[in-house]
Amino acid sequence: MSKFIFVMGGVMSGVGKGVTTASIGKILQARGYKVTALKIDPYVNIDAGTMNPVEHGEVFVTEDGDETDQDIGNYERFLGVNILRDNYMTTGRVYQSVICRERNLEYGGKCVEVVPHIPEEVIRRIKKATVKSKADIAIIEVGGTVGEYQNILFLEAARIMHYQNPHDVLFVLVSYLPIPGTLGEMKTKPTQYAVQQINAAGIQPDFIVCRSAKPVDEPRKHKISTFCNVAKQDVISNPDVESIYEIPLILEKERLSEKILNKLHLRPKKRNMQDWQKMVLAARRAIKAVKIGIIGKYFASGDFILPDAYISVIEAIKHASGANKVKAEISWINSDVYEKKPGLVKELKNYDGIVVPGGFGSRGIEGKILAIKYARENKIPFLGLCYGMQLATIEFARNVVKLKGAHTTEINPKTKYPVIHIMPDQAEKLAKKQYGNTMRLGAYPCILDKDSLSFKLYGQRKISERHRHRYEFNNDYRAKLIKKGLRLAGLSPDKKLVEIIEVANHPFFVGTQFHPELKSRPLNPHPLFKGLIAAAARNKRQEIRDKK
Ligand code: GLN
Repeated sequence: MSKFIFVMGGVMSGVGKGVTTASIGKILQARGYKVTALKIDPYVNIDAGTMNPVEHGEVFVTEDGDETDQDIGNYERFLGVNILRDNYMTTGRVYQSVICRERNLEYGGKCVEVVPHIPEEVIRRIKKATVKSKADIAIIEVGGTVGEYQNILFLEAARIMHYQNPHDVLFVLVSYLPIPGTLGEMKTKPTQYAVQQINAAGIQPDFIVCRSAKPVDEPRKHKISTFCNVAKQDVISNPDVESIYEIPLILEKERLSEKILNKLHLRPKKRNMQDWQKMVLAARRAIKAVKIGIIGKYFASGDFILPDAYISVIEAIKHASGANKVKAEISWINSDVYEKKPGLVKELKNYDGIVVPGGFGSRGIEGKILAIKYARENKIPFLGLCYGMQLATIEFARNVVKLKGAHTTEINPKTKYPVIHIMPDQAEKLAKKQYGNTMRLGAYPCILDKDSLSFKLYGQRKISERHRHRYEFNNDYRAKLIKKGLRLAGLSPDKKLVEIIEVANHPFFVGTQFHPELKSRPLNPHPLFKGLIAAAARNKRQEIRDKK
């Protein structure tokens, strides 16, 4: 029999519930248990693929091609395992299955109702994912915050599971404790209200994990304990830290894994977290900095900069920096700026490395192309991811091969030189308006050219990486581009699809049709990101020498 831990959020969203869920998974895994994690998103969308990244953050693609929430990425990075489609559900997905089943007469003539049929479907999905991943413990993160209408049916499913097996199910509330500037005191009242809300759903939290700018002190732990009905030792402090990878260690300072395992009637086996500790220490000790510019467009939300749309890219840079014993100073550069003032692109000389991540549509792309040209001509290490690779191909075609106006048909269907064009099966789908979950998605194999930099970095010829795109390198232009120095460093096994491009005579110029950032893990940084950061560090040393 598996055990289930539900993680719910109180007070407000965006306080690190996903990272807390992943960290709880990590500390239980370090105790010798097989752990999996699931995410429930209250959206009616079937998946995250149709949501705007500015609103929802990054779309994380799984090995089996699901377009999920960025928290699935956190689970993969902390647990070091692949999380698959079955571990992600949305309101849309749950209702869709119930309605399909009703149409197939599977309810045997019964009245199909929101309660109990929706929570029953939620429970069925949780159990199926747990069995499939052969987990001893499944951690289920319920999206949104308690008290919202949207997640009430998911809480009902959690309540029923606990009612049926009280020793196998426990609840963690991740709450936020504000410290208003005018008061300078940490306030517990919003957490007390959140607990009242969750109590109204028939759930009593076993643990309250307190997110705050500072550690929670004794008087406040006492208050939360008394007014929220939770033992004082089960009120866990989880303050802001420099690196999210420190959180499992912080939770363990409060002996959380032992406390959870006791409540679940599981034996706390000997803890093994040395690798993790080493990784955290190495990152903390790195002092030499490299400056990396991420050139994108999904940063701004009103007056605020939200880099969430690129979270896996940022984490991959951090993992690779740790491995190179340097610290990455990341800057967000909005490519629109270079379109308005092309002269500004010269500021890129201040960067040791440049990343152009994935994207869609026309906004900001000419700015990105200018930046790529600058990186290529000025030998600044460059990594282009998906759209970044496609734009690097366009830049090379326009400025090196002199194919004036070369473009992707995504933006200019009438271009004279469509160096990037739509894949034939994708054109059919778009014509039928079949947009949801129809891109080239998930893991595909790729064979590397033995003479390429990519081969040197991966150290093997056959690799597998995750994709999410509709357009591809147009093979009609292969010969022309190769002749002028573009290297096709990686191809699909049937040689029909170009998966990696490189520019020779450059310290590091790599573009990938796939998204390597999705597979980078803190204990296993991605070879291409490691190569980028190593080149950036060399760039920095060269710059210092030049100054002398
Ligand atoms: N828009 C491009 C395509 O669909 C690139 C997609 C991406 O960067 N994920 O092919």
